[in-house]
Amino acid sequence: VSNWEHVEQAPPDPIIGVTDAWRADPDPRKLNLGVGAYRTEEGKPYVLRAVREAETQMLADPASNHEYLPISGNADFCRLSRTLALGAGSAALQEGRVATVQALSGTGALRVGAEFLAQHLPASNPRVVYLPSPTWGNHKTIFAKAGFQVREYRYFDKASRGLDFGGMTADLSSAPPGAVLLLHACAHNPTGVDPSPEQWASLLQTTHDRQLLPFFDSAYQGFASGDLDADAASLRLFAASGMELVLAQSFAKNMGLYGERAGALSVVCRSKAVATRVESQLKLVIRPMYSNPPMHGAAIAARVMGDPRLNAMWKEELKGMADRIKAMRSALYRELTARNAPGDWSFVLKQIGMFSFTGMTRPQCELLVKKWHIHLTLDGRISMAGLSAATAPYLAEAIVDVVT
Ligand code: PLP
Repeated sequence: VSNWEHVEQAPPDPIIGVTDAWRADPDPRKLNLGVGAYRTEEGKPYVLRAVREAETQMLADPASNHEYLPISGNADFCRLSRTLALGAGSAALQEGRVATVQALSGTGALRVGAEFLAQHLPASNPRVVYLPSPTWGNHKTIFAKAGFQVREYRYFDKASRGLDFGGMTADLSSAPPGAVLLLHACAHNPTGVDPSPEQWASLLQTTHDRQLLPFFDSAYQGFASGDLDADAASLRLFAASGMELVLAQSFAKNMGLYGERAGALSVVCRSKAVATRVESQLKLVIRPMYSNPPMHGAAIAARVMGDPRLNAMWKEELKGMADRIKAMRSALYRELTARNAPGDWSFVLKQIGMFSFTGMTRPQCELLVKKWHIHLTLDGRISMAGLSAATAPYLAEAIVDVVT
């Protein structure tokens, strides 16, 4: 008898499971709107030209090898990543008080960051993290595994399908001092709803007043607006206030490096001396977890960020991806309106980034899957990147059917 006879079948991952179901669906009309990955107008994965070219250069480089990276990863990649996020003019960067380590994409950065905080926050700070409701499903598990008590703050307002700013502010205003506050830097997943610049300024004040520790999750820089700097505005606003903060960066979406697991974790500290010690402790978190990170994706990203020509090419392609997603929002809105979809669907245009949070109920979503072969997460989130000019009318027809 097996040692694992008693082991129960785990449920499929709610997001990854959507793609499995889509793959298994034999209907030719099937659509995958669950996937959090960019697709071309033809529904195909997209390798950026800048990335291809960086790879070609790397292959041709006779000095390239497969040695281990340091525990903290590729130093150029770390430097370029934090500069991309904080901006070259950042005081924290100029003062050398940012500790950065390469991470296994955004997920790994969050996981190492959470572990570091659990171990090294002052003993008097509560091990409590505030997450938006709703949020990317993995956030809860990541922080819980690191030993945090997970609490939620109000974020999405169902009625307006916009931000519940009053609820958010009220919840954060009653958070205990020293709690960690997770913020999506831009293009909030799954809602596509971000605070306005004025609201960010007010959130900074609340964070400051309540002495919360901001932890920015930046998985979509450049992908939301098409502009890398605009999408970093919230983070830069907080950093410019001089407060300490944590930042998880992913290059999965904005460079299309999903499977390469290229990401970075930065801890903005009060002084260079503290940052040096923090970095040494981050390495102690990493060493027994996976020793050191993979080279390939980080080397590509470092080249794309560091080479002016590749960098310009990347920015253009990034804008192209963001623009195609925006065009899909317009197309879906147009098709819904043309079919007199009940209610106000203008939120489809207002929401930002890869996703639209439609407010469709679970039974409606289940009907989309069963009857229309449109695969999505059952919380009503659709990936705009999975849509094309050719499929937008079909989706609109299906939505009108299930919500009427
Ligand atoms: N954070 C958010 C909000 C995300 O949406 C994602 C991916 O979907 C991630 C982090 C992490 O992605 P990855 O680990 O692939 O970089």
